[in-house]
Amino acid sequence: VVLKKIVEGPAEIQLVSDGVFYNPVQEFNRDLSIAVLNVFTEEYIAEKETLIQKKNKENSGNESAEDDTPKVEVNLLEALAATGLRSIRYAKEVPNLTKILANDLSKKAVETMKVNFEHNQVADKVEPSLDDACMLMYKHKHPATRFAAIDLDPYGCPSIFLDAAVQSVQDGGLLLVTATDMAVLAGNSPETCYCKYGAISLKTKCCHEMALRILLQCIESHANRYSRYIVPLLSISADFYIRVFVKVYSGAVHCKKTTSKLGMVYHCKGCDNMTLQLLGGFKPNPTEQRPDQEKAFLPAAPTVGTHCENCNQRHSLGGPVWAAPIHDERFVTSVLERVEGDDTQSLRTRNRIQGVLSMVREELQEVPFYHTLDKMCGRVHVTCMPMLIMRSAILNAGYKVSFSHAAKLSVKSAAPTAFLWDVVRAW
Ligand code: SAM
Repeated sequence: VVLKKIVEGPAEIQLVSDGVFYNPVQEFNRDLSIAVLNVFTEEYIAEKETLIQKKNKENSGNESAEDDTPKVEVNLLEALAATGLRSIRYAKEVPNLTKILANDLSKKAVETMKVNFEHNQVADKVEPSLDDACMLMYKHKHPATRFAAIDLDPYGCPSIFLDAAVQSVQDGGLLLVTATDMAVLAGNSPETCYCKYGAISLKTKCCHEMALRILLQCIESHANRYSRYIVPLLSISADFYIRVFVKVYSGAVHCKKTTSKLGMVYHCKGCDNMTLQLLGGFKPNPTEQRPDQEKAFLPAAPTVGTHCENCNQRHSLGGPVWAAPIHDERFVTSVLERVEGDDTQSLRTRNRIQGVLSMVREELQEVPFYHTLDKMCGRVHVTCMPMLIMRSAILNAGYKVSFSHAAKLSVKSAAPTAFLWDVVRAW
């Protein structure tokens, strides 16, 4: 008996039993993931083909050897698949995916999936699986059985799945991770955030970008345990959740650079200012003679005091957070161009994707966090000044400025905070 029918993109889902999860608000999440996967799979295939061709030529010792490159398989695991809607859409809308495994712990969910894979004629490409997501991923941690992409879209916090996920994705493969426990990540429960993500969250105007940076830090720390590291492609805050797309690579030497990609956050309780202090990094150590230790780890010297230099109120401390870029500008541009050039109109949230990605592409990557104009003006008891005037003042002073997609009225700039306060006070 079909209880309800849902149409999203080219997929039609029949809900055949109660209690199987479906959230229409996540359509944007699914559309965006399809756009990202289309670009990722294209690039993944090209990278793998180049590697295979190089190896073939080395093995044959013949530069002009016949090209017999085998077809690159691109398999994806949807570890928490519920109705299977996402997997059906991936099968229909990401042609480069060769095989999809759609898993759920719930028998009802897997029964629903089976009906829908047949109904949508994707049963040859999408396989249903009834298993605990972690147990399933652990069975795929050998390099020969890893997935090119793993999608984690749980209720709430994804951290319990990360240990397995970072081990069972291919080198150069993609992790797509959603977190919906925004209250925890946005500073309502910093202790719980530490327990789940290994970082203290803060209640600040930048809480959504901070949530993204906490999640990235958490994935990186899981990856580092297995000499792997992440490269973020796109990190989005939307509605009631965050979603990150990161590539995973292996390399113990690269993992040593992690400390220079992480920082503690000093947050002023008085003026809401945020200052990032890197954990440390690799710097030339002049006292060290041996060439292999030429670049020794030096912890960053503490430069941030207990009190804020703008208003002399106390700092509270949060983090560690990811302090390096949270998007890859080149990749974001490719996704944006693809969405703009897509005439199939299958993505109903296409306009929203274009809007968000255009903003993301402009974000100043070298400036973590931002100020919000309304909060700054409120703090000095003036009516909110026009954004155009603030941005012109910053540009005239010779600094770059951008919005952040994560907050309205955001001002991202490397201009000194004291200068920004002067502009607001002078308004
Ligand atoms: N990705 C789906 C979509 O886009 O429609 C929604 C997934 S829903 C938020 C989370 C699903 O995870 C539920 O169907 C639940 O049964 C499943 N789940 C929870 N814990 C699990 C586990 N340990 N292993 C596998 N599935 C699990």
